[in-house]
Amino acid sequence: MSSSKSLSARFSKLFHRNLKHRDDEAVGEASGGLCDICSTIGFDSDWSGREVAFSLGFLDDIKRRSSCPFCKLVLHSLQDERIIHMRPIDHYKTHEVRVFRQNPRRFAIQPLPSYSKLVFESDVKGFAKVSSSNQIDFEMVKNWLRTCEGEHKKCVPNEGPFNVDLSFFRCIDVEDMCITPVPITSQYVALSYKWGECKPFLLLKPNKDDLFAKDGLRRNWDLVPKTIRDAIDFVRSVDCRYVWVDQLCLIQDDDDDRGTGISAMDLVYEQAYFTIIAGSGTDADSGLPGVKEGTRSSSQQVTSEVLPGVSLVLRHTMQDIVSQSEYHQRGWTFQEYYLSRRKIIFIDDTIYFKCREKCWQELEDGLLVRSDPTEEQGQALHKPSGDIYHLLGQLLNKYTTRELKMPTDYVFAMAGVCRRLADYADCSLLFGIPVPALDWFLLFYPNKNGLRRREIFPSWAWSGWYGQVYYNYGSGNVTKWVASSTWITWYKREPSGELAMVWDKAERQTSRVNELFAHLCDVSRVEPSRERVSEQTKRQYATLQFWTISANFTLRGIDQEEGEKLMWSYGLYWTPTTYELLDRNGANCGFVMLDDPTSTSEDHKRAEFILLSLSAQKSQTAAGLSPADHATDLGGRFFWVLMIEWEKGVAERKGIGNIHRTALTSTLDPGISWKEIVLA
Ligand SMILES: [Zn+2]
Ligand SMILES: [Zn+2]
Repeated sequence: MSSSKSLSARFSKLFHRNLKHRDDEAVGEASGGLCDICSTIGFDSDWSGREVAFSLGFLDDIKRRSSCPFCKLVLHSLQDERIIHMRPIDHYKTHEVRVFRQNPRRFAIQPLPSYSKLVFESDVKGFAKVSSSNQIDFEMVKNWLRTCEGEHKKCVPNEGPFNVDLSFFRCIDVEDMCITPVPITSQYVALSYKWGECKPFLLLKPNKDDLFAKDGLRRNWDLVPKTIRDAIDFVRSVDCRYVWVDQLCLIQDDDDDRGTGISAMDLVYEQAYFTIIAGSGTDADSGLPGVKEGTRSSSQQVTSEVLPGVSLVLRHTMQDIVSQSEYHQRGWTFQEYYLSRRKIIFIDDTIYFKCREKCWQELEDGLLVRSDPTEEQGQALHKPSGDIYHLLGQLLNKYTTRELKMPTDYVFAMAGVCRRLADYADCSLLFGIPVPALDWFLLFYPNKNGLRRREIFPSWAWSGWYGQVYYNYGSGNVTKWVASSTWITWYKREPSGELAMVWDKAERQTSRVNELFAHLCDVSRVEPSRERVSEQTKRQYATLQFWTISANFTLRGIDQEEGEKLMWSYGLYWTPTTYELLDRNGANCGFVMLDDPTSTSEDHKRAEFILLSLSAQKSQTAAGLSPADHATDLGGRFFWVLMIEWEKGVAERKGIGNIHRTALTSTLDPGISWKEIVLA
């Protein structure tokens, strides 16, 4: 009782405070009073502390009452394009919009993500403060950094030694206004931003002497994109001296310099004292709002005065806004964002601070945060424990949704993450795949929209496709799975014709090959043919060359209704490109998901499948096998298969699937064969 009394006392103090008038920000001049429904909400009455829900009716009802300041605020919140809406707004033409009074400070709105709230405005801690300054408070930023540095154990830098060539590392010196080599252990800031369409100002062999000399940047100041200029000024304002910016710190026309730099991006962003995330705008000329006086406003904030002196503000979590921004759609920013240990995020005319332990924002103390699994996976890269291949798979599930202007950058923009994991596994990489786990990384499947071929990379690699790929095969240990479930001896053929083993430390699984297949065909050969197929050298990338079992089955389309039934009954992951596989008796013996949905109808087509490995368990697709058919061994294991198609002696991946073990004796004619595959 006493606590609710004191809350209410605190409230009335708040509500009778005189607020500054802000025409530009208010979405609703309180042109009318609260409507009949909203006047029962009781914005200034005693609030008991229990959650209370109010229905505002359907969308059109709310629109009709838009002279009510609270209804108007809810309407604007529903239309705010900066956040991910659970359902299209039209859904609420026939479904009620509800608001919940959750605690003394705020309301939740039912159709909005649960992390978006309407928060009472006040200078009191925990309430929403509307920015009154058109410039960043640099003392506050320095305070954030000091607190993190002094108190957070997780936010310390890596001491080294670094097993990497760091000759590329140099920074902009914001005092001498030039580019200068510094140790990677010095205190420097990194910039993460979108280049966009604006003209970059590049460090190149011809201008490097000028830019390395004192005041080199001052001499070229007009050529420097605005975001970089603002970053330089910001760094100076928070008393730091060095800032790393890719276009000015890697010699862009020197492949060695740029290449070594790109493969060490994990270190550059992880070691940075903090990273500036330029989350607003579309290109490098968008600037960092608030670095210079008068370069931002609070007009983007959705605010409404519901009663004289009582205002509410729409607040989202930082993640909601960042994840909707153009910054987060780009490929390069993925590892830059997730590898940085401290970030100062400029977005939506506000700045946020995010480190490995805390998240703060400029406008209020009671910041709404939620956990971001990708952020945790990114942090796990600093000290990987557990299965690093699963970790990379999870990061790729997210990364492959990103866009890149240059298709060739698709592997480079993840190179820091991949190299970091390869370092831990003490192995090399092949198109972003750590080679000891090649068998596992071939098993990606498409999301519902399917994939489209990216011709400059191989079809067997995640990089060979546009669209989101998934690696979601439970949490079993990948290294153990490779040891117990694979048999292929992988060779790669470079475009030059050079032939080499992919992973020469791999154990040959001769006994497994014999146990699984020797009773069915001659499986003695694993050495690749030395002579090459002419088509192999026409590709710009390495092709895989290996021996395994090949078999043919018939595809049968599954419509959505049937697919959903299978999904419910057996946990089959159904997409519009899922096909059932039929053996020579017309019985179901497996499933395949085709990668590219735009490929012509495959129904009733005969297709070739190659066996890759044993599945670890009843995988999602394998579990969809119809028990009526190859049912004798449903608890047993399935084979992972790739559907392939040949052209001029070279095969490409067309889909991924599972077949039942017993299917090997009932394939289409002429039965299975042990075959040399050249996979591009
Ligand atoms: Zn109302
Ligand atoms: Zn910290």
